[in-house]
Amino acid sequence: MKTEFPIYRFKELNTPFYYYDLSILRNTLEVLKNESEKYGYKIHYALKANSNPVLLKIISSYGFGADCVSWNEIERALSCGFNPEKIVFAGVGKSDYEISNALKAGILCFNCESLQELDVINNIAGELGLTARVALRINPNVDAHTHHHIATAKEDSKFGIIISEIEEAVLKLESLKNIVLIGIHFHIGSQITRMQVFRNLCSRINEITDWFSSRKIDLKIINVGGGLGIDYHEPDNLPAFAEYFSVFKELLRLYPGQELHFEPGRSVVAQCGSLISKVLFIKNGSNTKFAIIDAGMTDLIRPALYQAYHKIENITPQSLNTIIHYDVVGPICESSDTFGKYVELPKTRRGDLIAIRSAGAYGEVMASRYNLRNLPYSVFSEDTK
Ligand SMILES: *Cc1c(COP(=O)(O)O)cnc(C)c1O
Repeated sequence: MKTEFPIYRFKELNTPFYYYDLSILRNTLEVLKNESEKYGYKIHYALKANSNPVLLKIISSYGFGADCVSWNEIERALSCGFNPEKIVFAGVGKSDYEISNALKAGILCFNCESLQELDVINNIAGELGLTARVALRINPNVDAHTHHHIATAKEDSKFGIIISEIEEAVLKLESLKNIVLIGIHFHIGSQITRMQVFRNLCSRINEITDWFSSRKIDLKIINVGGGLGIDYHEPDNLPAFAEYFSVFKELLRLYPGQELHFEPGRSVVAQCGSLISKVLFIKNGSNTKFAIIDAGMTDLIRPALYQAYHKIENITPQSLNTIIHYDVVGPICESSDTFGKYVELPKTRRGDLIAIRSAGAYGEVMASRYNLRNLPYSVFSEDTK
């Protein structure tokens, strides 16, 4: 399906803003639900990709759970209709107040990332007279073949417990009375497009679950995190959920009664969002032409932070079809404030509307007020209550 932008509506609005096409979101959720239910897999949407309440209410209405990385995200998930029993809490640095609030809220599970964290959760749970359910987040040392800023499972990564400390973690758990171990958790990186990476993850997990089984430790939940990539070059393509789940179905061995959990973030929300901006000026460089737009890295930091590619379109109807190449840049006082170099566009003028596509994930949530700019706001394809 080709995305249509309501240009007539956009012309009345101040730029820049995020535009969310909720029918794309619903189509994505529909596919995600059907493909995961085929195998009885459970989905926890990773809020950090986008925590806009309008989107969250739609996502929770499909019955999915939530993967949170701060107490504020848990609070947001609860207020947008997610069931506390379907909320998991990850992160290498959970503060005491975050742990205690999450315990009181009755979340499903803490994904624990260090041995010391186990002690702290045990103590706080004891003080509150509660029992904490935990999963060990294990660093499986698998190469995600993605940008190094978003790879999380190499040996030198800060995430997860290293394999050589798992034995110690298990021994420790025997003495911690306010904690029960319900599973193991992995998250190896983001924007992973090679299915071979997930295949490698499956074989690694099989070895690890065999080890737990040899120790007679029951794991109710195997959580493989998120990371499924999307097609930034073809924003109208939905993520390859069917292929993705079939890899796990084929290769991951589950023991009887074991549940398989997933935590997709980017793949759920990326394609429904675009950053809409207006061209302020066109100017010549010595070797190039610049299109200077009113959105900057403060609105969408991915190109500056990860050298990420986003498809850029001039969505103002054009009478001529002369094609010109532009460096599309923002107004921020940083050279990295560049959305694309040598981008092919129709001859572009001051006032034209520009859509930066596939911006629904890690876009609005990462906005900052650097240069004392306003935060971007959001507009939806449908009126929302
Ligand atoms: C970021 C994150 C996710 C989501 O990753 P995506 O690549 O957006 O799917 C899932 N689980 C954990 C623990 C994360 O930190």
